[in-house]
Amino acid sequence: MVADKDMSHPEIRDAVRRLCAGYPGEYWRELDRTRAYPTEFVEALTEAGFLSILIPEEFGGSGLGLGAATAILEEIHRSGCNGGACHAQMYTMGTILKHGSPQQKAEYLPKITSGEIRLQAFGVTEPTSGTDTTRIRTFAKRENDCYIVNGQKIWISRAEHSDLMVLLVRTTPRDDVVKPSDGMSVLLVDLRQAVGNGLTIRPIRTMINHATTELFFDNLEVPVANLIGEEGKGFRYILDGMNAERVLIASECIGDGRFFIDRAAAYARERSVFGRPIGENQGIQFPISRAYVQLSAASEMVSKAARMFDEGKPCGTEANMAKMLASEASWFAADTCVQTHGGFGFAEEYDIERKFRETRLYQVAPISTNLILSHVGTHVLDLPKSF
Ligand SMILES: Cc1cc2nc3c(=O)[nH]c(=O)nc-3n(C[C@H](O)[C@H](O)[C@H](O)COP(=O)(O)OP(=O)(O)OC[C@H]3O[C@@H](n4cnc5c(N)ncnc54)[C@H](O)[C@@H]3O)c2cc1C
Repeated sequence: MVADKDMSHPEIRDAVRRLCAGYPGEYWRELDRTRAYPTEFVEALTEAGFLSILIPEEFGGSGLGLGAATAILEEIHRSGCNGGACHAQMYTMGTILKHGSPQQKAEYLPKITSGEIRLQAFGVTEPTSGTDTTRIRTFAKRENDCYIVNGQKIWISRAEHSDLMVLLVRTTPRDDVVKPSDGMSVLLVDLRQAVGNGLTIRPIRTMINHATTELFFDNLEVPVANLIGEEGKGFRYILDGMNAERVLIASECIGDGRFFIDRAAAYARERSVFGRPIGENQGIQFPISRAYVQLSAASEMVSKAARMFDEGKPCGTEANMAKMLASEASWFAADTCVQTHGGFGFAEEYDIERKFRETRLYQVAPISTNLILSHVGTHVLDLPKSF
């Protein structure tokens, strides 16, 4: 492993590394082959308290900030593991914590901390609206004490492995509101009751093992008591949570990047061709160095965004920039690692091809690079909006 100075939260990192050592490459390869969920790994993280690190102490969590959470996810990914199966358990609860009623907080947060309840699904994306979230069509019509939900969501990850889901719906048609982002609401759906009673979940097989699904709502009844915050203000609540999500995903990219650089440097030192280590050749050495330089810079931006988030400062731009820089740096490191390994980069047993596929996701989800560039262009540089 390449030495890294000034790493934050050394004790947390050390504990995560020790836990991850129990889940080596063979474990992930087998899951990848069968597209199975890493139940044991998720349970171990839950028991160790890593997934409740952001939950305040009064609800049983550690009450630490995003900086500590980024250290956990970075180390998970650097170890060759993948936090995608459960990272949302860390931050989806933020919607309840920030906008839920005292009753909702008291009811759910302690159970999320203990692992009794999993809240790691959030449903925003729809097949017809894509990134244009204000055009979502899933509609919740109020009838007495219930909302009746109809519509469809796509790419909703972990829905089959979650007890609750944070769901964004329209409660007022887009044409009847002043601002397109008005008229959307957040409902907490109890998946244990919903499946088979108005909700159908259909898994989507993808190039990575991500437990993502498509959801179909057909007159699903959700109690009005499960509305989070005020009706019609849901878009703002979801946006709040997205900053945390982007910073945490960025830290996974940093972890992936470090995994690739560790592996590439080790292999380049050891593999001898033409009577000398391949790492002696600048054509091999310099891309690894470049990957390290790019990743180090991205890591600084991730730390900055996490710090601003923890200080309660607006950090939308920094969270977006961190996610973009980190996802591009991890992808470059991934490509470099494959090239350094030659043919062995393609062999499953090296885990590089798996991580290569996994890290590609982050330039598309949870927000694609073009949309980040558009945010910077219009919000920072005051350029005209193209849509
Ligand atoms: C494995 C996986 C897991 C996911 N998990 C979840 C989840 O748990 N919950 C959830 O709600 N969503 C989830 N998503 C959805 C994810 O957030 C979206 O895929 C992502 O935001 C991109 O949206 P889209 O796929 O609809 O692309 P589109 O919006 O259709 O865009 C397609 C491409 O066009 C580009 N584009 C679109 N409009 C413009 C424009 N105006 N200017 C320039 N370029 C543009 C985009 O950047 C993108 O590259 C997941 C996706 C995947 C693949």
